[in-house]
Amino acid sequence: MRPFTYARPDAAADAVATLAADPDARFLAGGTNLLDHLKLGVVEPTQLVDVTGITSTEITELDDGGLRIGAGVPNSDLAADPRVRERYPAVAAAILAGASGQLRNMASTGGNLLQRTRCAYFADPTTPCTKRDLSQGCSARGGWARYHAILGASEHCIATHPSDLAVALVALDAQVQVLGADGARTIPIAAFHRLPGDDPTRDTVLAHGDLVTAVDLPAPTPAVANSTYRKVRDRASYAFALVSAAVALEVREGTVVDVRIALGGVAHKPWRATTAEAALRGRPATDDEFRAAIAAELEAAEPVESPLGGNAYKIPLVTGTVVSTLRGLAGGVA
Ligand SMILES: Cc1cc2nc3c(=O)[nH]c(=O)nc-3n(C[C@H](O)[C@H](O)[C@H](O)COP(=O)(O)OP(=O)(O)OC[C@H]3O[C@@H](n4cnc5c(N)ncnc54)[C@H](O)[C@@H]3O)c2cc1C
Ligand code: SF4
Repeated sequence: MRPFTYARPDAAADAVATLAADPDARFLAGGTNLLDHLKLGVVEPTQLVDVTGITSTEITELDDGGLRIGAGVPNSDLAADPRVRERYPAVAAAILAGASGQLRNMASTGGNLLQRTRCAYFADPTTPCTKRDLSQGCSARGGWARYHAILGASEHCIATHPSDLAVALVALDAQVQVLGADGARTIPIAAFHRLPGDDPTRDTVLAHGDLVTAVDLPAPTPAVANSTYRKVRDRASYAFALVSAAVALEVREGTVVDVRIALGGVAHKPWRATTAEAALRGRPATDDEFRAAIAAELEAAEPVESPLGGNAYKIPLVTGTVVSTLRGLAGGVA
């Protein structure tokens, strides 16, 4: 047992100031990810700053027709909200595809976006991992890389981001509201998570002490109202994505008018498939077009080979998942 203190501030600004003054302090929300890492020795904070009483648990209407989701909204409440289910079906579907009912009751919106990778080596301090410690190597390269990235990885880290919710939020162009030592700011969700580059210790662009206060969903477009989330995993529940896709589609008279595609399980961050989207706009909504578009996106893929299990299988799996999901949203059989 490593000793740490526990603080429960009354205001968000106090929580931010506490972390700013202590580089080894951490925010605590539902604790479903952080407490596991404490027990495993992945993190060793000096202080836990409980933010459950100071981050909003409300979902409110925005003037532009969108919704503001407080960072403290439990995943269960977000998935069950009738406005979310009707206007942003991909968000509700993504949450319900993850974890279990009990975990979703505890897990918060902010904590979900900031959960750490499920790379097995990251969670095992007896193995080298550059994401835990920059001076170490990456055990997954040449090791068990079945769950790992095929896009945007670096020589230092091939981990994937585990959040299902984040993939849906990227497809829907959500905005993250943040309170830092210098005040409040807004970060587009597509720019919130990072690729590993030469510093995989950082999952997001947040500075230490930045508190996520809310996530804004913009007013739904016809495509967003016709959105869904498809997750492929090793077993039907209680498993992280091998690959996943959040897809929104508007088709008029057989032609793609608007399309959004974000991929999960393929990169260090939710991967917005902008190449595929551009290839599809104005094109016929057919399987051939869907397949050609995702093939163009995956031209940049670099699967990892490993004697313990590589991840080249993800290329056909992503292709089938996206084509099938687009077909279903276009009115065909998914
Ligand atoms: C068995 C199991 C299965 C799971 N399966 C899935 C799955 O299939 N799909 C999926 O997406 N997730 C899954 N999860 C992960 C789960 O969704 C996350 O653990 C949860 O969303 C984290 O939320 P939390 O509130 O508990 O965060 P915490 O554990 O409290 O915190 C997580 C991190 O976020 C930081 N943090 C928390 N709130 C804030 C804030 N407001 N601002 C800044 N930083 C903050 C903390 O400091 C910590 O670093 C699973 C978890 C478990 C244990
Ligand atoms: S892939 Fe990333 S998280 Fe996994 S062992 Fe390598 S550096 Fe660590």
